[in-house]
Amino acid sequence: MDFVKKHIVEPGATVRLRKIATVPDGPFDDKQEAYDFTAETITKMRELQYRLYVEGKQSLLIVLQAPDAAGKDGVIRKVLGHLNAQGVRTFPFKVPTEIERSHDFLWRIHKCTPGAGQVSIFNRSHYEDVLAVRVEDLVPKSVWSKRYEMINNFELLLAENGTRIIKFYLHISPAEQLERFKERLDRPEKHWKLNLSDYDARQKWGKYREAYETVFEKCSSKAAPWFVIPADKKWYRNAAVSSIVCQTLKEMDPQLPKVEVDLDEVRERYETELAQLDDDS
Ligand code: ATP
Ligand code: MG
Repeated sequence: MDFVKKHIVEPGATVRLRKIATVPDGPFDDKQEAYDFTAETITKMRELQYRLYVEGKQSLLIVLQAPDAAGKDGVIRKVLGHLNAQGVRTFPFKVPTEIERSHDFLWRIHKCTPGAGQVSIFNRSHYEDVLAVRVEDLVPKSVWSKRYEMINNFELLLAENGTRIIKFYLHISPAEQLERFKERLDRPEKHWKLNLSDYDARQKWGKYREAYETVFEKCSSKAAPWFVIPADKKWYRNAAVSSIVCQTLKEMDPQLPKVEVDLDEVRERYETELAQLDDDS
C-alpha cells in the first residue's frame, strides 16, 4: 500500500478530522503482518539514512504533533529510535522558557533544524504556536493568525537549503485517549506521566481539532506536507510512519560518495600486509 498517498494532506485541501477514521482500514490481515512489515521497513529506512549521513548533503526534518497519549513517544521509541544515533537528534518542545519567550517563536526552533546529512525529530514543534497558543488564548488572534505564513516561509527556507520536511499528526479518538490515560493510572511505572492538564485539554478537544484543521489547510505544502495517521492502533501507526519516512528517504535518493582510491592499489597493499603478517608469525 502507498501510505504516502493514503495519508498525505494535499496542499490547500480542506481536512475534516471527524471524517477521518482513527482506526485503519487495511492493508494488514493481522497485527503480526504489520509488525513484520514495520521491521522490514525499518531495516530499509536505516540503510537509506546511512547513505544520507555519508553523503552529507541533504537533511530530513520529522515533525510529530498529536494530542496527549496519541503516541509521539511510542513512534520515537519503536520506529525512529532505530535510526543511527550518529545522524539523528530528537528535540522535545515544551512550554517556552522565559528566554525563549523573549525571542520570536521560531528562534528556539531554527537552532534545532538538521544540518547536512542529519535527521532532526521534533516532538511537538513550531506548530504549538498556532495550536496550544491559539486554543489557550496565550496571545491575541492578530498575533497568531500571522504565523501560518511565517511558518510556510520558514519551511520553504529550510527546503531551499536542502531539508526535506515531513509532518505527522497522530489521529486518535477521545475514547482511545481515555483508555490510555487509564493504563497510565493502572501502571505504577507510568504514574509519572499523569497530568491533570491532559484532562483539561480533553475538554477543549473540539477547539484543538479546529486549530489542527486550520494548520493542515494552510501549512501542508509540497516542500513540507502533513500526514494524518490513524493512531488508535499502535501497530498501524508504526507501520504507516515507518513507511512514509522510508519512502521520503528513497525519494531523496542519497548517494554514497564516489570511490576516489584505486581499488587495485588498496588490494595490493592489503595483500602485502597480509603476507608480512604471515612472515612475522
Ligand atoms: P508527554 O507525552 O510526556 O505528556 P508532552 O509533549 O505532552 O509529552 P508535556 O510536558 O506534558 O510534554 O507538555 C508540553 C506542553 O507544552 C504541551 O501542553 C504543549 O502544548 C506545551 N507547549 C509546547 N510548545 C508551546 C508553545 N510554544 N506555547 C505554549 N505551550 C506550548
Ligand atoms: Mg503531556
